[in-house]
Amino acid sequence: MDNNLQKIIDLRVEKTIKALEKNLMKGYYVKSQSELMTLIDSLIADDKLITAGGSMTLTETGVIAHLNEKYSSIFADRASCSSPEEIEEVFRKAFISDTFFASTNAVTENGELYNIDGNGNRVSAMIFGPKQVILVVGTNKIVSDLDAAKTRLAKIACPANTVRLNCDTPCKIVGECQNCHSPARICCSYVTLAQQRKKDRIKVIFVDGNYGY
Ligand code: SF4
Repeated sequence: MDNNLQKIIDLRVEKTIKALEKNLMKGYYVKSQSELMTLIDSLIADDKLITAGGSMTLTETGVIAHLNEKYSSIFADRASCSSPEEIEEVFRKAFISDTFFASTNAVTENGELYNIDGNGNRVSAMIFGPKQVILVVGTNKIVSDLDAAKTRLAKIACPANTVRLNCDTPCKIVGECQNCHSPARICCSYVTLAQQRKKDRIKVIFVDGNYGY
């Protein structure tokens, strides 16, 4: 990438990390996959149970593969489930896990996390349950404020996810939110996480580059 553009992105990440820390969330910035895995290993070294929410970012950055390779005995991976009942059980395990991995749909420069969810299992585990929440986030998900976060979801994250999941929703056809009442709607809950009570329970690892939607 052009050095000037990279400098601007780095400054934006630094600003966002400071804002997250004001909201009692810990921020990190890594520039390579090996740096990401080394950091993750250090954060989950004492874990006995690890879970993860559905996330393109976790797949694209190699985190899910890393957890399956190195932590298979303690990683409850929904992808290895063979029935809806088993998947439901993994969703519930998230609430008693040491670490819950996910991404976030947007991070504002004011240090807020903004997410939508269909089932609600992902956002509810972010809010309460797991001892720590590690969010892996491409720098493409930083936005200026909550209005920009909502626009990002309506025009990028939601439609792209409905295409990925082949949901029968109008945004899959039109390419942006139509405020539908489809039974397949993926944005049933809109959640903003602002200042936290448990300092550094939520950790946001920014990864240099574009990941997820
Ligand atoms: S409300 Fe419907 S159309 Fe809008 S993003 Fe959600 S699923 Fe798509």
